Amino acid sequence: MIAEVIVDIASSEVDKIFEYVADETVCPGARVKVPFGRTYAAGFVMSVKEKSEYPQDKLKKIAFVYDEPPAINEESLFLCNAIARRYRCPKALVLRLFLPAEMRTGKVSERFLRFATFVKEVETGRAKKQAACLAYLKEKGKCEAKELEEAFGASALKGLSEKGAVLVQREKTVRSPYASLPEKAEAHVLTPEQERALSSIGKSDRTVQLLHGVTGSGKTEIYLSAIAKVLKEGKSAIFLVPEISLTPQMLAQLRARFSSAVAILHSGLSAGERFDEWWRLRNGEAKIAVGARSAIFAPLEHLGMIVIDEEHDSSYSSEAAPRYRTFDIALMRAKYNGCKLILGSATPSIETYLKAEEGEFNLISLKKRINQHPMPEITIADMREEVKHGNPSPFSSALQEELEKCLKEKKQAILFLNRRGYSQTVICQECGYVAECEACDVPLTYHSEENCLKCHYCGARYKMLSACPNCGGVRIRYGGTGTQRVVSELKKKYPSARILRMDNDTTSGKEGHYRILKEFSERKADILVGTQMIAKGHDFPAVTLVGILDADMSLHFSDYRSGERTFQLVTQVSGRSGRAEEVGKVVLQTYSPKNYILRYAIGYDYKGFFEYEKRLRKATSFPPFSKIVRVMVTGEDEGEVVEALKEVYFPIKQLVDENPEEILFFNKMKAPIKRIQNKFRYQILMRLKGDALIPRIYDACQTKRRNVLVYVEENPNNLS
Ligand code: ADP
Ligand code: ZN
Repeated sequence: MIAEVIVDIASSEVDKIFEYVADETVCPGARVKVPFGRTYAAGFVMSVKEKSEYPQDKLKKIAFVYDEPPAINEESLFLCNAIARRYRCPKALVLRLFLPAEMRTGKVSERFLRFATFVKEVETGRAKKQAACLAYLKEKGKCEAKELEEAFGASALKGLSEKGAVLVQREKTVRSPYASLPEKAEAHVLTPEQERALSSIGKSDRTVQLLHGVTGSGKTEIYLSAIAKVLKEGKSAIFLVPEISLTPQMLAQLRARFSSAVAILHSGLSAGERFDEWWRLRNGEAKIAVGARSAIFAPLEHLGMIVIDEEHDSSYSSEAAPRYRTFDIALMRAKYNGCKLILGSATPSIETYLKAEEGEFNLISLKKRINQHPMPEITIADMREEVKHGNPSPFSSALQEELEKCLKEKKQAILFLNRRGYSQTVICQECGYVAECEACDVPLTYHSEENCLKCHYCGARYKMLSACPNCGGVRIRYGGTGTQRVVSELKKKYPSARILRMDNDTTSGKEGHYRILKEFSERKADILVGTQMIAKGHDFPAVTLVGILDADMSLHFSDYRSGERTFQLVTQVSGRSGRAEEVGKVVLQTYSPKNYILRYAIGYDYKGFFEYEKRLRKATSFPPFSKIVRVMVTGEDEGEVVEALKEVYFPIKQLVDENPEEILFFNKMKAPIKRIQNKFRYQILMRLKGDALIPRIYDACQTKRRNVLVYVEENPNNLS
């Protein structure tokens, strides 16, 4: 038999597929070791066939076949081929999505631990430590050798082992990242509304189920019950959440409910832990994969359900090749397995809700919070009035009043501002000079704690200016407020309040967010100040006040989705208030208090918002009534970038000219941010009526240039 083997998936930019002679047992998806040049390489069998076009004696033999079962199963191979075709992307690159990092390199480590087992009593003479060690082990029967060595010394254990009293053996173990989580928890008794939702999912003949429920309506409980049902049928499930929602609370809940049937894949795990969790899924030991976007590639068989929680979240789109949307992959898998795909959100994307309204998805609505708990009341603070009345602080008088009450009653508050650092811009008041990054065409942000300027695009740091490099002036102004400034103003105003800050600067490291969220939930702080990281999924029962400091930030962003983002953000952040017994309050600060989006948001009127936004998008032909496609061309040498741009522009222009009925907008230009990390950025921007031309646009963008990157984005999250 002949096997087509793809090699060098870790680093190659193009597919290297070679034929090898294989015996009958080799099947597609198997991981193999093959002779490659003068050495050996790890590879994956993509397919097998009877005959080669080359003379068989010219072909080399597969040297070694790794693990049983094959690392890549049939469904994964199918998906891999489909994704490579859809996004015109090398299979090697796509395969990486399906494998844990440790396996991509071909070097595999499984963890072995040494265990000591009690065999028999022996004479230990005057060796007191040996006697103590043996007595201890006799009691326990078996334990990790390391534990004994630490307690009684390595020589004691060695001595006992030599006398045959103890057997020390290496055993394969699975690294369990969540050993400390609770063992068991009972499910809630579902409310009638939850029961109705669950049975609607069961009865529906649609593949996609949209669970539209206000924050705190008990969606999580519905997902878990649906998953429990699927497990009973002997099937498996995938449960996706935004990375930021994978809180210890959430993990504990899952572990308690499904114990070791759940495998958790998230970025906080070590490579080894991820590897073990992955294999537990692959060999069927674990039946539920929980994780962020990439868990959609979990190697589960007999899928019975896929859940995408907070489906509107932008983290579900990949921003590296292949630039897939998680929903698209989930739909492929749901169809392949004949199972259902549940999308859940309090604020579904316009695109999703439209499909539900049109009947393509089954729509299930949960309109009330659990126990009829009221939604928090949202008050608008008009910041124009505040300025008029001489209040220069970032806090309106309404917010100050509520904050004081909240502190006095020993409750907790969350203040939300989607801008980190101290100030947004640093401007010379003499000449108008704005400090910018040398590698990116963007203004720098002042960070007071380190007293430096930082670029939020490439992370570069610069010394704070003592004088303007342009005119020598010394009157430097800090424009705009960031989270650091909010904290320093709060400290001045409420010196005894305990304040925590959560943003990209405070959450570095593996446990970054967990630490802050834990401290806040243990009530070691009164006020949490944060960026959109704090908006999602967290359940803090003592929070009774939420302040949205600048609701206009995302509103005036030049993106067709800015209204949608603002509505989502206001709803999500407000949803953090008053989740337990107390009724929550929200103060929303804005300079445009009459804005429609904000009006719908404070009334919790998703339908009103949806109808308004739908009409607007339809009238202006924006998605979901069209498709935005951006071809991005970037590289360090501007001349070469422009050359590459021309190369892709001409075939696309021809396509456009031949299909005028498909085109709503077409232009080539510099990207809004002209340079990031020293790479120049040019783009071809298109708005298309539908998907008809998309495959050919991908074709046109295949470039052989090595120093220029050309890629296609469909409805990108970010058009900067
Ligand atoms: P959502 O995901 O819709 O925001 P959650 O699933 O977090 O809502 O539920 C909100 C709160 O209600 C949680 O504290 C949860 O434990 C509780 N809860 C959910 N379902 C029930 C139920 N059937 N009975 C009692 N409490 C429930
Ligand atoms: Zn920069």
